[in-house]
Amino acid sequence: MSKHALTTIGFDADDTLWQNEQYYRLTEAHFTELLADFAEGPKISERLLEAEKRNLAHYGFGIKGFTLSMIETAIEMTDGSVPAGVIAQILDIGRDLLSHPVETMPHVQDTLEALAGNYLLVLITKGDLFDQERKLAQSGLGDFFDAVEIVSDKTAVTYRRIFSKVGDGPERAMMVGNSLKSDIVPAIAAGSYGVFVPHELTWVLEHVEEPSDAPRFRKIANLGELRRLLDQLG
Ligand SMILES: [Mg+2]
Repeated sequence: MSKHALTTIGFDADDTLWQNEQYYRLTEAHFTELLADFAEGPKISERLLEAEKRNLAHYGFGIKGFTLSMIETAIEMTDGSVPAGVIAQILDIGRDLLSHPVETMPHVQDTLEALAGNYLLVLITKGDLFDQERKLAQSGLGDFFDAVEIVSDKTAVTYRRIFSKVGDGPERAMMVGNSLKSDIVPAIAAGSYGVFVPHELTWVLEHVEEPSDAPRFRKIANLGELRRLLDQLG
């Protein structure tokens, strides 16, 4: 093995290994119905997104923060008169979101099976600790991973730290994920490959420009193409 060979592959979880955003969208649709007497759906969604953006710094990523943002939005949109019954329903739909089924994406199982043992595999995800642990357990994918990192944010520092601890440094690592902002751009900034696997539903706060000029940027249509890419990179 050349001293520059890749040894470590990081995988994002939500909407890379399993479906996630679609459940948030369903919950949001339900939420707008609960407030239908007070405002139009798009207006509610807009205010909810603003609340989520504001609250990221306080609560981090995940369903608990999302639920609190829904409650905050309900209070705002009703000028403080939202009935307690509606708050209770918001808490219910937030809890339902914490128990949605885990549906793995195409080619995930085969790909991880083929790579495990040949590379160090690391799951790197944001979100609520309990929720991500539950999804990993239910996915049945846990045994493929050499390490699991549930982090509060994904920055170049995060990737440098994880790939140095688990692998042989960021230069010999690759990060695979559906978020340009969280998975790709910071991993490339850390010195790793960033392999973008677009998902048709990606949270608007995770969008940034594709770093098309970066030598270590790659894009594949689905995880089934990852092994061929690794062969090409040698
Ligand atoms: Mg993701």
